[in-house]
Order: sequence, then C-alpha cells, then structure tokens
Amino acid sequence: MKLVDVQVQGCFIGGEWKVPQKERLIEVKNPGDCSVLAFVPRGDKEEIDLAVTAAKKAFLSTEWKTFKPYNRGKLLYLAAEIIRENKEELAKLETLNVGKPLAQSAVDVEIAARYFEYYAGVADKILGETIPVEPGIINYTVREPIGVVGHIIPWNYPLQIAARSIAVSIATGNAAVLKPAEDTPLTTLKLVELMEPLGLPKGIVNVVTGYGHEAGAALSAHPDINHITFTGSVETGKRVMESAAKNIVPVTLELGGKSPNIVFADCNEEQALEWVLKSIVQNAGQTCSAGSRLVIEKSIKEAFVGELAAMMDKLSIGSGIDNHDLGPVLSKKQFERIKSFIDLAKKDGIRIATGGERILVEGSESGYYLQPTILDSVPASHHLAQEEIFGPVLTVTTFETEEEAIEIANGTPYGLVAGVWTENVGRAHRVASQLQCGQVFINHYGAGGGIAQPFGGYKKSGFGREKGLEALRNYTQVKNVALKY
Ligand code: NAD
Repeated sequence: MKLVDVQVQGCFIGGEWKVPQKERLIEVKNPGDCSVLAFVPRGDKEEIDLAVTAAKKAFLSTEWKTFKPYNRGKLLYLAAEIIRENKEELAKLETLNVGKPLAQSAVDVEIAARYFEYYAGVADKILGETIPVEPGIINYTVREPIGVVGHIIPWNYPLQIAARSIAVSIATGNAAVLKPAEDTPLTTLKLVELMEPLGLPKGIVNVVTGYGHEAGAALSAHPDINHITFTGSVETGKRVMESAAKNIVPVTLELGGKSPNIVFADCNEEQALEWVLKSIVQNAGQTCSAGSRLVIEKSIKEAFVGELAAMMDKLSIGSGIDNHDLGPVLSKKQFERIKSFIDLAKKDGIRIATGGERILVEGSESGYYLQPTILDSVPASHHLAQEEIFGPVLTVTTFETEEEAIEIANGTPYGLVAGVWTENVGRAHRVASQLQCGQVFINHYGAGGGIAQPFGGYKKSGFGREKGLEALRNYTQVKNVALKY
C-alpha cells in the first residue's frame, strides 16, 4: 500500500526547483523499516551559494521592500490554511520520515499551522519606540529586518521547526535559506511546495537539502548570511558559531538538554506520573526538551518508579504509521548511540528498572525499536545523568531536601527546560526562581507546542530565544533615528 506519494523535485532556490544530478543524491529512509522513501539532492557549496544569492536579491528587491507588512501577514494566514488542508498528507509524510506515531505527527502539523497564524498576526505589529531625549529633538527606533537568515534544522521535529523558521522570517521581512537535516527533509520540501501558489516573491524562502558538513557548513560560513539559527548538537553548534564569528554574524543556538522533572513528595502523583512518562517517550525521547532526568524525593522514589515502570511496560511499540505509543528511533547510528549509554549503565552496575532492549517488530525487523528504559539510582554526577542520551531513556536520581533538588537539577552542563511537581505554591516559585534553565513548567510539562512562549537555553543548551514575540529580536535589528526641529 502506498501511503503518500513521495515526489521530490529538487532544491527550492529563487522560486524554482533545481533538479538534482543523478550522481549527487541522498537516500532518505523510513526509520520504521529502513526502506528507501525518496532521494533528495546532495546540495553543497554551489547550491548554498545560489540560494543565498537568490535570497539576497529578493531581500533587496523593490517588490519585497514595498510588500506591506499586513500583506506578509495575510500570506502567512493562507499558509496556515494550506497546511490544515493538507494535514493528513503532511502527518503521514512526517511519520514515514521521522518514525514518530501518527498522532504525534498530526499534532506537529497543527503546531506548524499555528506558527504561521501566530506570526501572521505579528507581521504588522513590529513596533519601535519614541525616546524623550530633549525638547526640539524627535528620537525614535525602528525594528528593521536583518537580511538573509540561515536556518539549520534538526531531524527530530522537521516540520515544526521549518514552519517556525519560515513564518518568523517572512513576518519580520527577511529572506530565508533553510537546510533541513539530511535524514528528514521531506516535510520541509513539501511545505515550500504547498506554499508555492501563495505568490511569495521568488527567493524569499529557499531550501537546500544536503549533508551538514557540506551544505550546512557552507550555509553557516557564507559571507552574505546575516543571521544563523541552528538547532542540533553542542558539537555542531560550536562549529556553526565559529563560522559565524568569522563573518561577525549573530547566531541563535538551541542545543538540546538534560531536562529534569523535579518531583516532591507533596505532588499530585497521578499527574506527575502521566507527564514524566509522556515527556520521555514522546518521539521516542528524541526531543531537545525531553524530561530525561527524574529528580525525585527519596521517600516516594520506590513507589513512583515502580508505578512508572508498570506504565512504560504497557506502552505499545511499533510502526508510527500504525500509531503505536512508541515508534522507532531515527537510525542505526542513533540506536547505537543510545545503546552505548544503556551498556554503560550495565557495566557500572546501574539497575535497569525496565526496558533496555531492542524490540524486533514483526514485518519491520529492520527498524530500530527500543523499549522505554528507566535507569534507577543514577548518581547525579554520573555520565548517564549528565549527557543527553536522545532516546527513551530516563535516569532517576533522589534528593532529600529542596536545596539538594535544586543543586542536582542545576548540576549538568545544560539548562533548557525543567518540570517542578509540588502542591506547595511557595516552593514551586522558590524552586523555579533558582533553576538555571530557559523554561520552567510547574505541575505540567510541554515545551513542544508552546508557540507563544519564548524557548531556548541557559548554559550549553544555547542562547537566543525561538517562539513567541521574543524570537522577533533575532530576526530584526534596531535603528535609532534622531531628528532636530
Ligand atoms: P547535528 O548537530 O549534527 O545535526 C543537526 C543539523 O546540523 C542537521 O541539519 C545537520 O545536517 C547540520 N550539521 C551537521 N554538521 C554541520 C556542520 N558542520 N555545519 C553546519 N551544519 C551542520 O546532530 P545529529 O548528528 O543529527 O545528532 C547528534 C546528536 O545531536 C543527537 O543525538 C542529539 O543529542 C543532538 N540533537 C539535538 C537536537 C535538538 O533538538 N537540540 C536535534 C538533533 C540532534
């Protein structure tokens, strides 16, 4: 049965599809069974240069300069409509390419539409200020677009992140070049294809597929890029920042995390259990904001972990298209990386409360399906409790006092998100105020859909904020004008 017709036309550059040469293609696979879904161009320096040149020309064109902000907004509303009209196809394509359960892809599609709507409303409300300097002088600021903005997109939430990148870039009047991850470029290409009839000036949005070390490196080093947004690993983030430094270009880095769910004995256990589970199994744990550490008060640990393990054991594991609770991890490479952490736990005598093994799914034996896993009583300083595993693997560390909970929560190189579970309002705010991270959820957890909420990290989780009005700062620059009369 053919679920969706995967036709790839090429890279999208200057409003045209650049047809790939046969010898320069990348295989795109379905993580469910490792079958080949499509071939996309292996773009490199040449395609990046064409795309950046097209974006620069479009950005400087009279057509774009005179494109009224409310018309940018209207166009973004139409994009949201088109996404919803094609929601089933987009969700299936995302699931086939990323492996995540269909229901999660459907949420991603709705979030993508919401990004367009949110930034549609913002397009004609990017305001400056007047500054009362002295009588006889009118002093004001304008927020101007920054120019050509590069977006390097990760493989775990490709459609959501492409939508967020395109929507904010258009709303702020920039021109964008997107480089999707080599493993999961299909919904980004589909999105620009669906947007083609909207009449966006040619070159305002460009997509170049390709490997990170080729197309990604060329994009971040291109001298005509005016801003780079990168989401992915710390190591690549460093490289992107080095390239940006050479061109004196600002960067926004979103580099993942080791986010704790801090569970106090006075919490609502039922709610805490539900969200601790969801936040580590969503997208098979391949989420930058995954709640990958359970930091829990010692007195309730045994019962809580026992219940959590029982809940994990009931989850169904299988192909994303069949909408199981847990799909496969992305690839053999990602599986082996995750497995190496589990092997380390075994070697160091850490108790595996549940999971830890690959599952062979009938009919999809080549897919990399992994049981959701709990590593119990992991010392806070252990590698397993410090490093991002990026799979459905939860570490458990206990505390006895509030101070200790905060120290453990803050005790990793990362600082993206934290969950705090307590019925004591004073404690909730006290703890939130001391957490070194960009977002705190009290008695719930869920950064994924927070379109309006600024999102980004402290420490090695990066800097700069995506989402919400805060993201406008990345994509605009302030000009101050003083007039004497
Ligand atoms: P990565 O950082 O290598 O890839 C992310 C993006 O950067 C991709 O589009 C890739 O093509 C591009 N890229 C790679 N090398 C580049 C370079 N030299 N210059 C410019 N762009 C480049 O991540 P990965 O190898 O796909 O995954 C490795 C680990 O990164 C994961 O296991 C996980 O820990 C982390 N990760 C985090 C996120 C997140 O949401 N923060 C997303 C993906 C991966």
